[in-house]
Amino acid sequence: MDESIRLGDKTFVPYLQADVINDAVVRVADQINFDLSGQKPLFLVVLNGAFIFAADLLRNIRLECEISCVKFSSYHGTTSTGVVNELIGLKEDIAGRTVVIIEDIVDSGNTIVKIVDLLKSKHAGDIRIATLLYKPQAYNKNQHIHYRGLEIPNDFIVGYGLDYDGLGRNLKDIFVIKSEE
Ligand code: 5GP
Ligand code: MG
Repeated sequence: MDESIRLGDKTFVPYLQADVINDAVVRVADQINFDLSGQKPLFLVVLNGAFIFAADLLRNIRLECEISCVKFSSYHGTTSTGVVNELIGLKEDIAGRTVVIIEDIVDSGNTIVKIVDLLKSKHAGDIRIATLLYKPQAYNKNQHIHYRGLEIPNDFIVGYGLDYDGLGRNLKDIFVIKSEE
């Protein structure tokens, strides 16, 4: 049976089934419950990609906690300021707080390092990172990634929140791009 799927102009093949993903999600939640026991963290869900991971992860979190959704954006400001990074949607005062960033995937690490810098500039206390997927061969930063659901090779994947050109976020399994024949 051909289980490949088509999204736009690309073909993807099954890679991680929903039950494998769920095991990883529960593992990450258990670690966070253990590590942050007695604390009242703020979870920051990085949209769009992390929305499904966050929904499943947070239902396994037993801590008293707050949840907020943010969007990271980078744009060119005036010539004097160069590239400006922003966290859109962060209304909470995070000074001194334990903040857990929920990401879908960490690839080169550029995005997560910029988000951490923004949170540091707002004087967050303990900043932790939880990502469903992590590409060790692509990651080239010193920033520690505290919670990693699954390590994957340097391939382009979709599903479970992750998209190709806006498509595929709704897939319950994760698919990998089919190499060109
Ligand atoms: P980084 O800044 O770590 O290089 O990449 C972070 C962003 O690139 C992710 O949040 C995600 O939006 C995108 N990205 C990286 N790898 C993949 C992938 O395999 N599939 C999809 N759909 N997006 C990816
Ligand atoms: Mg992302």
